[in-house]
Amino acid sequence: MLMLQDYRVLQRDLLLEIARAITAQLELSEVLRMVLRASVGMLAGQVGLIALRNDSDGRFYIRATSGASLEIIPKLNEKLHDLMSSVSEGTDNDYLNLKLREMAILIDRKLRQSVAMPLIFADQPLGLLIVFRSYQAAVTSDDVQILQSFANQAAIAVHNAQLYERIEHERKRLAALLQHSGDGVMILSPSLIILRFNSALERMTGWSSQDAIGQHHDVVIVWQRREHGDLQASLAAGWPKRPVSEESFVDTLSVEGDLLRRDGLTLSIGITYAPLFDADGKLLNIIANVRDITNFRKAQEMQNVFISTVSHELRTPIALIKGYASTLQRDDVEWDKAVVREYLTIIEEEADRLTELVQDLLTASKIQAEQQVTLNMSDVRLDLLAMRAVERFRQTTNHHFELDFPDEFPVISADEVRLRQVIDNLVGNAIKYSPNGSQIKVGCSYDDDWVQLYVQDEGPGIPLSEQTRIFDRFYRIDNNLSRKTKGTGLGLYLAKKIIEAHRGTISVHSQPGSGARFTITLPR
Ligand code: ADP
Repeated sequence: MLMLQDYRVLQRDLLLEIARAITAQLELSEVLRMVLRASVGMLAGQVGLIALRNDSDGRFYIRATSGASLEIIPKLNEKLHDLMSSVSEGTDNDYLNLKLREMAILIDRKLRQSVAMPLIFADQPLGLLIVFRSYQAAVTSDDVQILQSFANQAAIAVHNAQLYERIEHERKRLAALLQHSGDGVMILSPSLIILRFNSALERMTGWSSQDAIGQHHDVVIVWQRREHGDLQASLAAGWPKRPVSEESFVDTLSVEGDLLRRDGLTLSIGITYAPLFDADGKLLNIIANVRDITNFRKAQEMQNVFISTVSHELRTPIALIKGYASTLQRDDVEWDKAVVREYLTIIEEEADRLTELVQDLLTASKIQAEQQVTLNMSDVRLDLLAMRAVERFRQTTNHHFELDFPDEFPVISADEVRLRQVIDNLVGNAIKYSPNGSQIKVGCSYDDDWVQLYVQDEGPGIPLSEQTRIFDRFYRIDNNLSRKTKGTGLGLYLAKKIIEAHRGTISVHSQPGSGARFTITLPR
């Protein structure tokens, strides 16, 4: 027969064993379950619950139960909240017992006694363990001692599991961040083996993460052309430097160039490599952040083209103005009136061209900054604007104009100055990009909802692949014709922005070899 003394020893051994098992467990819910089972068993109770402090609101919530039904948990949480706030206000034991009694009744009327144990770690209350039983029995000081040491052990286990849970959350959050980042991210071992490879990088490189992981960095990152930075050379030269202190800046390395993708295509990318050291200053990982810099490159290229076209475009009229002005100024020649007038006309025209160019540039940069065109609306007849434009151009070119206008035409509300700018550009382009002497057809039409204008030439036309790009800012088709003609590539860009500000559309139809036809459509 077991003596009471032996029973206590047995109970203590059992407790120790359970405590050890609990501390080895990192899954919070599992730890709570084990603590509950052990404590309910130890006190021969019927029902047990564990509440844990929530970090965000500081309140206690039931996180595990044994023997209580789930539906009453919200109500129990309320009682628990009253109980815990009275504890922090230092209320007497009677009130605590009353609250515990109320909880017991909520669970089961038959429950008679409750034993509550705080779970305390590093002087901080982590939670509360309560065991209810259906009979009243004395709890000896020995019992309390054993129970308390068990609760202390349990608190350590709960604390560890909570830490683990937090780390696990953090890990999952980081993994999601890494996976869904718009930038390519890979994690490398110190010997440059790929350990992680996110989906953005799959898209950029054409490698699946499955194939890339385990490969050496250089197998996946193959440079067709490297502009600056060199990972291998930097490693050989002692990169990365260990940080002197926690705060000292990270020794990152940037490499930029054209990547040869797995499918043979190329992509302009920039990679920033950042080293990760452990507490002893040993290199743990290299984290590579990869950005697609195609757009940046394109913008840079466009800017270069722009600077060279604009300076060219500015230089020509300036040279003409300067040339004619200094000719007129020569003291040794007596110019007759007709020559003077001719030269002054040229100077004036060239000055106008300069003004126009500067105006276009200003409008383009204004649109860029404000994202829209501001319109000055008035009553406008599109057919009259077109006719006037043709009359103006007729003087300056030997193209044949054919007009196609209905007898009557509706008035619309539009910005006359801007529309004139668009029509001038379309007719001007038709002249510039079609042979001398060929025919240009300009016509208008309307229906109940729309008015339309088209300009059709007999030039070489525009290849399908270029038909959307010609409306881009500074875009000029790279062919013989464009090289021989002057232009900034702003005209159609501005035309499109202006027509769209009127809620209209501009389009081009062209069969290469048989001319181009530009059409604008505006709402009535
Ligand atoms: P720009 O004429 O100053 O170069 P635009 O924006 O008006 O600029 O036109 C962009 C490009 O579209 C031109 O450089 C030219 O290559 C092409 N383009 C425009 N109109 C025509 C046309 N009627 N026929 C052939 N190509 C055209």
